[in-house]
Amino acid sequence: MLGNLGKSLTNTMKKLAGMTVIDEKTIKEVVKDIQRALIQSDVNISLVLNLSKKIEDRALNEKPPKGITPREHVITIVYEEMVNLLGSEPHELEINDKPFKIMFLGLQGSGKTTTIGKLCRFLQKKGFSPAVVSTDTWRPAAYEQLRQLTEEMQISLYGDPDNKDAVDLARKGLKKFKNQKIIIFDTAGRHKEEKDLLDEMEKLSSVIEPNEAMLVIDGTIGQQAGEQAKAFASTTDVGSIVITKLDGSAKGGGALSAVAEIGAPIKFIGTGERVDDFEVFDPERFISRLLG
Ligand code: GDP
Repeated sequence: MLGNLGKSLTNTMKKLAGMTVIDEKTIKEVVKDIQRALIQSDVNISLVLNLSKKIEDRALNEKPPKGITPREHVITIVYEEMVNLLGSEPHELEINDKPFKIMFLGLQGSGKTTTIGKLCRFLQKKGFSPAVVSTDTWRPAAYEQLRQLTEEMQISLYGDPDNKDAVDLARKGLKKFKNQKIIIFDTAGRHKEEKDLLDEMEKLSSVIEPNEAMLVIDGTIGQQAGEQAKAFASTTDVGSIVITKLDGSAKGGGALSAVAEIGAPIKFIGTGERVDDFEVFDPERFISRLLG
């Protein structure tokens, strides 16, 4: 379990290597290194301070369990404290209702539409055949983008580029697909004013009554993730987060602010533009990446 993390903290942990007793000064140095790594990964500063304080307190006060070296003990504490925030196991998407309604939320450009394609493929591989409803009346190309994506995968799509009423589209989509097992709703990611966008999400949510509201966050945006998540979470009960664009150099630490802000787990990550560039979120790998 600690293999990856141990490796990613190699330099930091070298300082601890071979020590049988770890003194306060060493622990403080190690905590500083961890802080540096997290800040470089774009993790929110108050989150970093919070985490590192807990790590320091525990490392100074808790005795390593029998058979565990002080060095391994510090690594374990770091890991446990990160896991407290992110969870230790991947969170499953549980399809436990019929129709199971998934409502996507996210700013324009975050990767929402692409992610819907990816989730469809993911669900198809599990033997489901989801249907998609397009309610984005704001971006002219949104319907066409979804049409192409779903056509390639032979997935049913409901939308009407001439209808400018998102709530009406959602209602009609619900009716059309009421016998489907899974319905995925795409929504707008931009309006003239942010408030209008949020109002629309609230209305859509009350009509769709999603089993799962999935918030898509661009992994490269850094600190704005927290505010974005808070705004969307004020419109509906966000059940999961998808972080996109983790194929680049961004480590996605900014997205942790979203998790800390709204308390919803990250369930998937996007790792590229293609429909298969999609993974179930693995907390341990993510933590290793943040600290590496
Ligand atoms: P939407 O406005 O939220 O629906 O965003 P789109 O799905 O249209 O995506 C915006 C851009 O981000 C497109 O160019 C996508 O190809 C790109 N994109 C989406 N997800 C990823 C990802 O995981 N990695 C990379 N590199 N690009 C992505």
